[in-house]
Amino acid sequence: SVLQIWKIAARHFATDVEYRPIRSVLVANRGEIAIRVFRACSELGIRSVAIYSEQDKMQMHRQKADEGYLVGKGLPPVQAYLNIPEIIQVAKENNIDAIHPGYGFLSERSDFAQAVTDAGIRFIGPSPKVVQQMGDKVAARQAAIQAGVPIVPGTDGPVTTSDEAIEFCMKHGLPVIFKAAYGGGGRGMRVVRQMEEVREMFDRASSEAAAAFGNGAMFIEKFIERPRHIEVQLLGDHAGNVVHLYERDCSVQRRHQKVVEIAPAPSLSTKIRDKMTEYAVKLAKHVGYANAGTVEFLVDESGNFYFIEVNARLQVEHTVTEEITGIDLVQSQIRIAEGMTLPELGMTQEKITPQGFAIQCRVTTEDPAKNFQPDTGRIEVFRSGEGMGIRLDGASAFAGAIISPYYDSLLVKVIAHSGDLQSSCAKMNRALREFRVRGVKTNIPFLLNVLENQKFLNGIVDTYFIDEHPQLFQ
Ligand code: ADP
Repeated sequence: SVLQIWKIAARHFATDVEYRPIRSVLVANRGEIAIRVFRACSELGIRSVAIYSEQDKMQMHRQKADEGYLVGKGLPPVQAYLNIPEIIQVAKENNIDAIHPGYGFLSERSDFAQAVTDAGIRFIGPSPKVVQQMGDKVAARQAAIQAGVPIVPGTDGPVTTSDEAIEFCMKHGLPVIFKAAYGGGGRGMRVVRQMEEVREMFDRASSEAAAAFGNGAMFIEKFIERPRHIEVQLLGDHAGNVVHLYERDCSVQRRHQKVVEIAPAPSLSTKIRDKMTEYAVKLAKHVGYANAGTVEFLVDESGNFYFIEVNARLQVEHTVTEEITGIDLVQSQIRIAEGMTLPELGMTQEKITPQGFAIQCRVTTEDPAKNFQPDTGRIEVFRSGEGMGIRLDGASAFAGAIISPYYDSLLVKVIAHSGDLQSSCAKMNRALREFRVRGVKTNIPFLLNVLENQKFLNGIVDTYFIDEHPQLFQ
């Protein structure tokens, strides 16, 4: 019809990516997130393809895809999922239309996004340029400044000597936080409160960063006291449309790593929520962000908030946003990568309305009684919590599964969704109590302690919460 022709013409001028259906997706990842993507593919009628390392031959993600290919023969377990040329070759040989990077591994490597694109395969994520810009802390902060988004005062570039560190601290005052310039996942950070400690702490942090990330360069930021970590989920398309899917509160952290996530952020004023989501959308539009992404902020006690970083990928905690919005983020990612626009997907800002509260607990095979040391071995008994409002995203959560020491210790993500925060927490508490896991230790006792803490249930905790409550470890 005329309308259809008009629509096709309109798309041609509005977007920089031509519509091309995706019929097959390879996931360059493992475990629960690989399965999460396969499920989305399966529902969309898309062929799903796994890669697996020698150590992962028996892993569930291999079984949950339509096909699986061994990669990284002879390589160490993690390297198998980082070998770009081999992954591209497997994709080419098997007629793959698109690659989803999951989280971790190659998900924030712009050279991977570029290699995928150069091979004529669609990368299910933002453009290589945007991945590069967001992954570079300096460039990301620069973009935030240009978009008018408030940022934490920090160094304009990587710092390599303790003299530069001292200079920054003299100028901006203490406390500060040192971050490994090439680090991530909350690792390689150190808070410094005393001027006489700056030199020694810097040298120590820098040499740790060099050992862990292959580069000792550091960033220094003003340390925000008692912050809440609140992040905004975004979706952008290739026509320049961006919507937000509200925010998540990820303040419950252990060693700067998220443990429990909640959507939306409890007791956040409408004023802050509106401003924060507006800034996130502004930043995304400014850089031409297409696909799913997250803008992270810290909120201080007075309600001032500061941009910290953009995660140009799907996040572990995307699930809670899906629960409150009813939007499948992975399916949206695939459709956007095909070249569909947000309006075509029925996603305009007014139509996105959050319902109730969702909470996610990361159940890990870590022993809280032994300082969260990862536990390994065979799961002898496994029963999970189920029932209304409970969602489980896992990979090796079943009797007979072997928990290996080679990869991260996430066993299953448990997500509860209900009308208000208290009833979601009650649901989560009940579900976690139904779990029976024998053969490996899990952090469930710790999570239950969190869920029974009155401060937590009241809905306002900051990132100091776990450190200030040693009774949670009992
Ligand atoms: P990563 O990239 O390693 O995940 P982030 O920059 O996202 O690191 O920070 C992770 C966590 O570290 C934050 O959620 C927060 O708890 C803490 N953090 C980071 N920067 C600051 C800061 N400037 N002040 C206070 N806490 C911070």
